Amino acid sequence: MKKIYIHKNQNEVSVFTARAICERLRAEGFTVTETFEDDADFMISVGGDGTFLSALKASGYSDIPAVGVNTGHLGFFTELSTDETEKLVNLCRSGDFKVQRYRTIKTVVETSEGKQELSPALNDVLIKHNKSSLIHLDLYIGSSFIEKFSGDGVLIASSAGSTAYNYSLGGSIVDPDLALLQLTPVAPVNNAAYRSFTSSLLLPASRETIIKPSEDDDVNITIDGRVFLFEKVRSITVSLSDKEVSIVRLPGYDFWGKVKSKFL
Ligand code: NAP
Repeated sequence: MKKIYIHKNQNEVSVFTARAICERLRAEGFTVTETFEDDADFMISVGGDGTFLSALKASGYSDIPAVGVNTGHLGFFTELSTDETEKLVNLCRSGDFKVQRYRTIKTVVETSEGKQELSPALNDVLIKHNKSSLIHLDLYIGSSFIEKFSGDGVLIASSAGSTAYNYSLGGSIVDPDLALLQLTPVAPVNNAAYRSFTSSLLLPASRETIIKPSEDDDVNITIDGRVFLFEKVRSITVSLSDKEVSIVRLPGYDFWGKVKSKFL
């Protein structure tokens, strides 16, 4: 391993920690860059999960190993704390670590101008109205028409994103060994006029979800927190992609232990 990309948020602790890590790694002979370069071998994020997601975005969701140093956030993706710089340097020196691979989510939007593939998502894709109004969506799973959804929107989360917005919406936490997508309604309307599922649907990796907004609805598609706005959308197709990201896991990593410590 030679070239390391380091990404940080702008809070004081993160800036200080990232500087200390850079100095130590450079002293060890590594090339450390603060903008992503295609030939980077390793990625370090200093911040919380939001910073980890923005590091992935900045790298184009590269599948080089990525490790997070938590500077005081929830830090579900992160493995190291700010006082573990030497452990991190040893990790880079030895290259002796395991990675957990996660499939990302692929989103393709079709408008009158054609089809466009959006950025991959690690966590989730949120589809809602651009003006916070009620949105009307025809929902298909594979070729089967399922429902006419009306409500604030729908969230489609991967296993990795199951502990994020998905969990706040009452969705299930998913073991990372399961490659699936979870479709969860956001404030669905259920009355005599509209009817939709109120619980999450769990979909296998092979299944596409196709969402057709009503013609008048301007659509906001939020991918891992990043917003894309569209008018006159014909369809949005969401599926699990073959594009993966690799998250470093240290000895002793235990997903369910982490869930317990972060959420209970
Ligand atoms: P943000 O609104 O600044 O922060 C969202 C919160 O979600 C932060 O506390 C973040 O942890 C946490 N988080 C992100 N990914 C997580 C994961 N996989 N497991 C557990 N917690 C996670 O937004 P952001 O930092 O740009 O992150 C975008 C993500 O925020 C979206 O993908 C969505 O899942 C989530 N979000 C959640 C809600 C909600 O829960 N009501 C609403 C909107 C968006 P850190 O504190 O460590 O950064």
